Amino acid sequence: MKPHFATPFIYSTRATRIVFGAGSLERLGNELDELGIRRALVLCTPEQRELAERVRAIGGARCHAIFDGAVMHVPVETAEAGVRAAKEHGADGLVAAGGGSTLGLAKAIALETSLPIVAIPTTYAGSEVTSIYGLTAGSEKKTGKSHRVLPRTAIYDATLTLTLPVALSATSGLNAIAHAAEGLYAQDGNPVMSMFAEEGIRSLAQGLPFVCAQPKDIEAREVTQYGAWLCGTVLGNVGMALHHKLCHTLGGTLNLPHAETHAVILPYAMAFNLPAVPDARARLSRALDTDDPAVALYELGRKLAVPASLAELGVSESDLDRVAEFAMRSPYFNPRPLSLQSVRTLLQMAFEGDTPISSAFLRN
Ligand code: NAD
Repeated sequence: MKPHFATPFIYSTRATRIVFGAGSLERLGNELDELGIRRALVLCTPEQRELAERVRAIGGARCHAIFDGAVMHVPVETAEAGVRAAKEHGADGLVAAGGGSTLGLAKAIALETSLPIVAIPTTYAGSEVTSIYGLTAGSEKKTGKSHRVLPRTAIYDATLTLTLPVALSATSGLNAIAHAAEGLYAQDGNPVMSMFAEEGIRSLAQGLPFVCAQPKDIEAREVTQYGAWLCGTVLGNVGMALHHKLCHTLGGTLNLPHAETHAVILPYAMAFNLPAVPDARARLSRALDTDDPAVALYELGRKLAVPASLAELGVSESDLDRVAEFAMRSPYFNPRPLSLQSVRTLLQMAFEGDTPISSAFLRN
C-alpha cells in the first residue's frame, strides 16, 4: 500500500524533564540542584506523610519543610493554606510527592507564586506532565491551563507505587488509558502524541492485569508507570472530547468518583466514536491487540474488577435524561456528530453495563 500523510498538524512542546526508573528517588538532590532549588516545601496528603519524610531525608537541607494538607479536588482554602506555608517558609520550590491531589495542590501554589515544581508521582493519574490545574470553591470545580504549573521535573520511581491499592491502581490506570484514547482523535492531535498514546495504552493494558494480580511486582509496576507517563503527556498536549465531557458532567451533576466514572464510560464512548475515526481505531486495535477495541476495553475492566456500570456507581436510571441534556448544553469538539438521542443511548448502555455495541448507535 502506498504510504500517505493526509493531515497537516502543529506540534509544539514544553516538556517536563523525566527521570525514570526504580530507585530514581535517590536522584532527588541532583534534580533539585539542577533547578537551583535550595529551600523546597514538600507536599503530601496526610496519609503519605511518611513518604514525604523520606523525600525530605533524601533531599537533605534542600527540602526545608513539609506541608501535609493535600486533599482531593484542591479546595481553595487548602490552596490558600499551601501558599501561606510556602511564603512563611521562604520556599523557592515545591516537591509534590503523591497522586493527582498532591500535584493539584502544588499547581495551585505555583499558580500564585510561580515556584518551580518537582513531581514524584505515586499513582497513574498523569498530572505531573500537564499544565492543567483545578480548584474547587464550594461544590464548583474550575479547571484551567497555565505553563506556570507544569512541573519542571518528574521523578518516576516505581517502587513508590508498590503500595498503591489494587482498586486505585486499576481505576487510575484506566483513567490514563482514557486520556490517550481520546488523544488519538483529538481536534488538535498530532502524530507524535498519537505514538505516545498508542504505546501508552499498550503498556498500561499489558501492565495493569499483572499489577492487579501481583501488586508488589516491580516490573509490572514499571511498565504500567511508563504507560501512565505517556498517557499523561497526551492529556497535557491535546484536547479531549465526548468521553471526558460525559465524565465531567456525571461527576459534576451526580458527584460520582472521578476514576471509576472514566472506567465505566470509556468502552461506550469508544463504541460510539471509533466508527468515525479509522486511524484512531487502527492504533487502538494495535495497542490492545484486538479487532474490537471497545469490547477489549470493556473486558479489560472486568479483568481488573473495576465497576462495570453506572448503576453500580449508584446512578439512578431517572438521572440519565438530565445528564444527557447537560452534556449537550455547551457545544464541544467530538469526531462524530452528537445528538441528544445518541448520548442518551450511550448513557443507557453504560447504566446497564452490557458489552458495548457500536451498531446500537446506527439509528441515532
Ligand atoms: P489521589 O492523589 O487523590 O490519591 C488518592 C489516595 O491514594 C490519597 O489518599 C493518596 O494519599 C493515596 N495514595 C496515592 N499514591 C499512593 C501510593 N503509591 N500508595 C498508597 N497510597 C497512595 O488520586 P489520583 O487518582 O492520583 O488523583 C485524582 C485527582 O487528580 C483528581 O482530583 C483529578 O481531577 C486530578 N487529576 C488532575 C490531572 C491534571 O492534569 N491536572 C490529571 C489527572 C488527574
